[in-house]
Amino acid sequence: MKTCCSSNTSDKECVRKSDGKVFELPRRFSKKRCKQGIKGFTMRSSCAPYKDCLTKKGKVIKGKRSKGGQLTYKKNMLGKKIKVCSKNPMTGFYRDGYCMTGADDSGTHTVCAKMDKKFLDYTAKKGNDLSSVVEPGDKWCLCEYRWQEAFKDGFAPEVVQNATNMRTKDVIRKQIKIHNKKKTKSKAKSVFKVAYFAGGCFWGLQKSFNGIEGVVDTSVGYMNPNSSGTGKSVTYEYVSTGKTGYAETVKVKYNSIVLSFDELVELFFSFHDPTTLNRQGNDVGTQYRSIAFYSNKSEKSVVNNFIKNSDKNIVTEVKKKTTFHVAEDYHQNYLQKKNCDNPNTENLDVFHSICKGNTTLAEPKFSGKYVKKPYVDGKINGIYVCPCCNNKLYSSKDAFNSNSGWPAFSNTIDKKGLSESKHISFNELTKELTCKGCGLHLGHRTIKDKKIHDCINSTCIHFIAGKSRGGSKKTLKRLLPQLREIDKSKKEHIYKLSDPHKKRVLAIDEGIRDEMRKGVSRRQAALSKKKRFNVLRLYRKNNDPKGCKRLTQDMKYMDKKYDTGQTNNICK
Ligand SMILES: [Zn+2]
Repeated sequence: MKTCCSSNTSDKECVRKSDGKVFELPRRFSKKRCKQGIKGFTMRSSCAPYKDCLTKKGKVIKGKRSKGGQLTYKKNMLGKKIKVCSKNPMTGFYRDGYCMTGADDSGTHTVCAKMDKKFLDYTAKKGNDLSSVVEPGDKWCLCEYRWQEAFKDGFAPEVVQNATNMRTKDVIRKQIKIHNKKKTKSKAKSVFKVAYFAGGCFWGLQKSFNGIEGVVDTSVGYMNPNSSGTGKSVTYEYVSTGKTGYAETVKVKYNSIVLSFDELVELFFSFHDPTTLNRQGNDVGTQYRSIAFYSNKSEKSVVNNFIKNSDKNIVTEVKKKTTFHVAEDYHQNYLQKKNCDNPNTENLDVFHSICKGNTTLAEPKFSGKYVKKPYVDGKINGIYVCPCCNNKLYSSKDAFNSNSGWPAFSNTIDKKGLSESKHISFNELTKELTCKGCGLHLGHRTIKDKKIHDCINSTCIHFIAGKSRGGSKKTLKRLLPQLREIDKSKKEHIYKLSDPHKKRVLAIDEGIRDEMRKGVSRRQAALSKKKRFNVLRLYRKNNDPKGCKRLTQDMKYMDKKYDTGQTNNICK
């Protein structure tokens, strides 16, 4: 006779290993359970398979089911409704078989989760391949115990939606809480942040912020620190009365890695005169008063500290931000639009006839500066900006030789391809390209095989060469933001990077972080890096003893920081 665990559904009897008890097969469900609509088999503790409910004479009674194939009980022991997330939540997740569902078991499958491929692979590895019944993206119920196991192993599905039962342990609740918190935290950790400042006429303040490295986007509008507004539209005319409580405000979106809030505040106070009440220069009225808005306590203390430490008599208000009402279109980037008296261009005459107030004319073929070497073959590194408003337009990396006689680009600087660029407007009807900052005419676009060919007048753009060249520049530039994070108090030495060991250490950290982004664990990434270093070290042992010592130093750094074992000294 077979043991119950190795029996199959055609066997008539089996013996339970633990106590030698013999079972008739297939085992019947109890009457009670039959009434509850159980069907199927289980291989739980006894391993003996259950079949459909059978009468004494062996007649099969099909399990009772409600219409639509759903199970009839959807309440947990508290009488609370269980959200059935799969049509057949009978799968759960047991390593040695299937979970049961039933009146006394209905609390088990209470964690409803969206399956992902990683998790389904995991179930297969654990001997309970759910992928035969569940596809990635399906919602499925898991028994809490196994879900916990998977959570510990790091394979719990991303979205945990419902935990409905009294038996749901506090542990799970806590884990779900932490899980959800982490998710919102990672969202909030976006490098792009927004700050609001009021300091006189918003035209000038916007222009000042626009020129700052790290400022991604700005817009002008109105904010009333004492009110979020009444739902009515806030207009320039309305605010101009000076009796509304609104102040002309600039919204600054910035990359917090490149630019900190501290620095923004410092800039704000340098851009305007914070000592004159309700006035900036000739502009007088409460709408021109100076306000630094904050979104949280730490920002508030940054501003307050700045004011406290200043030797000026600052009258700037420090207020919590409220609703920002965007100002009318014509106020946006106003000064840049108007200020094109001194464009950065080679040929002012051509500039005036081609780039200003023109939509069709182009400069003569092969006459422009940027259609010639070295620009046209992309050998010179830099960016092309608007000669009026300095708005960034194209990167030299996207320049190509089109042989048309005009500079050509295959993409905008923000790599938006055919979708809307932040910097350049494209009119589909006229095919015209204009600067989004100031509306300057740039040239025309043709589209071939969904690829862009932007044909631009040299006179309507201005080239700014990259500060340095070569491969090292690229890595350094990437390292700098990290450096700032690591040591904010010592900004100076961070930028100078005079210490070669520190420089290498940063490169190591950056490399490991890169690996981690691909999903490799921190230690694994460090170990594989160390392995490569070791090969290099052996190679350098005799040929380059100094290099060998440097590598040893770096490996010892990894040992300490990433727990990668101990490095022996092999260099002589
Ligand atoms: Zn422009």
